[in-house]
Amino acid sequence: MGLKKFAVSLAPTPLVKLFANPYVAGDSIGAAVDAAQKLWDERRVCSTIDLLGEELESDEEVQYSVDVYERLIDTLGSQDYATISLKPTQLGSHRGTDNCQEVISRIVRRAEQYNIKVTLDMEDNSFTDMTLDIFRALNKDHPTFGTVLQSRLFRTDDDIISLKGLNARIRICIGIYNEPKEIALQSKSEMKRKLLQQVELLFKEGHYPEIATHDEAVINEAIDIAEKLNIKKDQYEVQMLKGVPKRAFQDELIQNGILVRLYVPFAQKWKYATAYCKRRLAANPAMAAYIFKNILQKIAGRR
Ligand SMILES: Cc1cc2nc3c(=O)[nH]c(=O)nc-3n(C[C@H](O)[C@H](O)[C@H](O)COP(=O)(O)OP(=O)(O)OC[C@H]3O[C@@H](n4cnc5c(N)ncnc54)[C@H](O)[C@@H]3O)c2cc1C
Repeated sequence: MGLKKFAVSLAPTPLVKLFANPYVAGDSIGAAVDAAQKLWDERRVCSTIDLLGEELESDEEVQYSVDVYERLIDTLGSQDYATISLKPTQLGSHRGTDNCQEVISRIVRRAEQYNIKVTLDMEDNSFTDMTLDIFRALNKDHPTFGTVLQSRLFRTDDDIISLKGLNARIRICIGIYNEPKEIALQSKSEMKRKLLQQVELLFKEGHYPEIATHDEAVINEAIDIAEKLNIKKDQYEVQMLKGVPKRAFQDELIQNGILVRLYVPFAQKWKYATAYCKRRLAANPAMAAYIFKNILQKIAGRR
């Protein structure tokens, strides 16, 4: 771990909360739904809304997450611009795959009543098998249920091949978790090169790739791959995180007929949000300096 990443990992919750501001929609269902609605109304940007929380180890906490997701789904209702994302370790993985699958299937069934699509996020490598098992099991009855693959893992090509025939929504990203060299690429440029190869493989296997990166060159190359393969623009989308300053590029993509979706997390309880926020800051410590500068400018402006 580099020095900057180490410093971020030690940051106290109030500081993380301050810096998390651009990445997180707020601390209520209403704030998340309003953020998604605003993105759509003002810019035709779609969203995937995520309740922050992971590594929950009590049934009460898991039930709390289920309740919040169900209220989120009822509040969103039928619409075309927002999906939801969720994590196994927030939804019962502490009691094994069957329990986690049962909990997630309750949310998926509720979402289906409103035609809201659900994506199962991918966590670190100790959850890859569990996540794909749950994905396969639920995708049978819920074909819009999607998941995520990480290009840094050596196993990902095989995982794509193993999903043959599902024509699924697959978010493909480099992956945010540091993984050991025995099982994963260590160089970011190699992860990105691999991501592009996997976008091509996903197209060839008939899936709907959700290309999740902020790297404009990678996105442009992925679009070139789609054009070369005669893939229509409604057969893939580009995803980015709320808070990463890429507005002009996103607007340009939308003008060119490409669907752009932002990951819009919200926190009901901040203690559950800190792990996500620390990962985002560790991924880009320069952002902390940028936010701090903005805060100082705002304070100076008020004087
Ligand atoms: C919608 C979405 C969903 C994701 N879901 C998962 C998942 O389920 N599992 C998983 O392991 N990973 C997930 N990720 C994380 C992803 O794997 C990467 O770690 C993350 O997107 C950074 O990689 P990058 O491809 O954008 O490349 P980078 O090289 O990190 O970023 C390219 C450029 O974007 C900007 N940028 C990137 N990140 C930030 C930031 N935090 N703040 C400010 N600027 C930034 C910088 O200018 C940077 O140079 C997701 C990412 C997105 C966008």
